[in-house]
Amino acid sequence: LLQLYQPLNFFGVVYREIKQSLTDIESLVTLLGVDREVADAPGAPALAVDGAELRFEGVEFGYDPRRPILKGVSFTVPAGKTVAIVGPSGAGKSTISRLLFRFYDVNAGRILIDGQNIRDVTQTSLRGAIGIVPQDTVLFNDTVFYNIAYGRAGASPAEVEQAARLAHIHEFVMGLPDGYQTMVGERGLKLSGGEKQRVAIARTILKNPAILLFDEATSALDTHTEREIQANLREVSRGRTTLVIAHRLSTVIDADEILVLDGGRVIERGRHAELLAAGGAYAALWTRQQDASQGVVPVAEALPEV
Ligand code: ATP
Repeated sequence: LLQLYQPLNFFGVVYREIKQSLTDIESLVTLLGVDREVADAPGAPALAVDGAELRFEGVEFGYDPRRPILKGVSFTVPAGKTVAIVGPSGAGKSTISRLLFRFYDVNAGRILIDGQNIRDVTQTSLRGAIGIVPQDTVLFNDTVFYNIAYGRAGASPAEVEQAARLAHIHEFVMGLPDGYQTMVGERGLKLSGGEKQRVAIARTILKNPAILLFDEATSALDTHTEREIQANLREVSRGRTTLVIAHRLSTVIDADEILVLDGGRVIERGRHAELLAAGGAYAALWTRQQDASQGVVPVAEALPEV
């Protein structure tokens, strides 16, 4: 694993962040093993981003070919719009984000960014165009400055501060004993979930990706943090093509389109109000989750049963 963090470049950030959304270390090792098999095509050009329309076309995929996970998934995130993917546990939501990063190649179908198949461009350019905002950010055991500046190698203090302002964390940082030089992380100052996420957002703003992947935490958060995170997402996703992987439903209400994934297929799609009115799987999921948040049904039980 050590070699992953050397050189300390963007890859490191992606891996750390992807790692956080994985449930166990075994998945990480599997992920790393597979990643080495995904290679750039000889002479592959860099991804040319113009607006960043994201399109999945008939995507089929299984970690093991004998067990298909995605069975023909198609959707488009128009440039600057937000699409959210919801569905029961194990439906294949996180798999979609792993395929977008090309940690694996699809078995059939295509994933296109501005019309370019992600298989045909360099992985560095692909991953450079995508920013992840995980909900449960783990910070480096380093300064606040370092944690934000990591978004772009060589960022100046003025740029870091500007990103922090946009992420609404600057005032908070200035109130810390050592300002941007305050040590955070496990061995430093413990930040709240919402504060940590704002640091991650500042890092993403600094990186300025055309595509944003918002991977919602599986664990439940308190209502206050949840609202804060929703507001953060709204702000950072403005004008960026955004894919929300929603393990719960709180962040999807504003999405331009919601896809309900079940058993590797999109079984419903539409906006929040339309889907509620339709009274189908989404409406059932929503009702159960509302009950869960009011303590009628535990969240963990509410999700798997669409
Ligand atoms: P959750 O909401 O619980 O996070 P999800 O919809 O994100 O679920 P995925 O993580 O995409 O689900 O997993 C879809 C299926 O793929 C699951 O059955 C899971 O067991 C399987 N899977 C995930 N990762 C791997 C892997 N590295 N190797 C083999 N199977 C995997």
